[in-house]
Amino acid sequence: MNEEKRYEDCRLCPRRCGVNRVRGEKGFCGETASLRIAAAVLHRGEEPPIAGENGSGAVFVSGCNLGCAFCQNFQISRQGLGRVVSIDEFAAICLALQEKGAENVNIVTGTHATPALARGVAAAKARGLTVPVLWNSSAYEDEDTLALLQGLVDIFLPDMKTLDAETARAFLNAPDYPEVASRAVLAMLNMAGNLSYAREDGEKMLSGVVVRHLVLPGRLDSTRAVIEWFAENAEGRALFSLMTQYTPMGPRAPNRYINASEYETLLKWLDEFGVRGYYQELSPDADWLPDFSRFNPFSSELSTPVWNAYAGSALHKINDDVAVVQEGTQG
Ligand code: SF4
Repeated sequence: MNEEKRYEDCRLCPRRCGVNRVRGEKGFCGETASLRIAAAVLHRGEEPPIAGENGSGAVFVSGCNLGCAFCQNFQISRQGLGRVVSIDEFAAICLALQEKGAENVNIVTGTHATPALARGVAAAKARGLTVPVLWNSSAYEDEDTLALLQGLVDIFLPDMKTLDAETARAFLNAPDYPEVASRAVLAMLNMAGNLSYAREDGEKMLSGVVVRHLVLPGRLDSTRAVIEWFAENAEGRALFSLMTQYTPMGPRAPNRYINASEYETLLKWLDEFGVRGYYQELSPDADWLPDFSRFNPFSSELSTPVWNAYAGSALHKINDDVAVVQEGTQG
């Protein structure tokens, strides 16, 4: 069966919009059946076993099936930045990232485009992609759609945002998020198998799951429930990554940063539940926020651009399919 038939009456995610994306209709995610990509970069800000020495090859997919009030990538998730790429061009972007030294190909927020991305990854592997493929998602996804990635994705990086329906309704536009995300992360644990590394020091992940959680200011009970869930369901099989980089973004979202007292409580809870993984240093500023209207959406310390939807004359082609930034030419 051609899995892309599933765009014709789209029920790829829990929104179940039922629109015909092949005919150009759009559901909640805002995307037709055409795969659109905004940018691809070597990103050095991911967790150490994912960023490795050279950075993770992040590919930013346009559109999103969740609706977070605090989305830091709103230019691509909601405002439509990006351009259509063919399956061949997507494969070429993956290969260009590998060529530039990416430790992995890190597909960011691709749930609504899973069938096309599965085909793209398969095409990239057929053309010589050997680095691990990583699925970096909101976890608002169905198990049967995730199953399309079986054998194609090596590492899952879901952000388990909350297990509290009221928080999910208020900030994610998805009151069923807690049940959906719990099932999705369990499915990922089964698909990815055990954590494995290329190096004994654990600095190069080859397979496994890293469960992220972005802490919302004033909603620490929600975070405690996620840590507890992880300790009961995933400890020993996955790593946990506590993210405290929340930055006030919009009128519907909390309008402050995590404070020092909340941060201290969070670290105590990590200790109390004995979860293994990572936590961020508290750094309440907006300097790191991406701007996808720039050629390099991040700072040059954080990322090196490899492909951009709006590539201009500063680019050269490494093959017929993809434009790649010349060394040292960053926007
Ligand atoms: S993938 Fe998009 S169109 Fe399809 S069900 Fe989800 S939000 Fe709706």
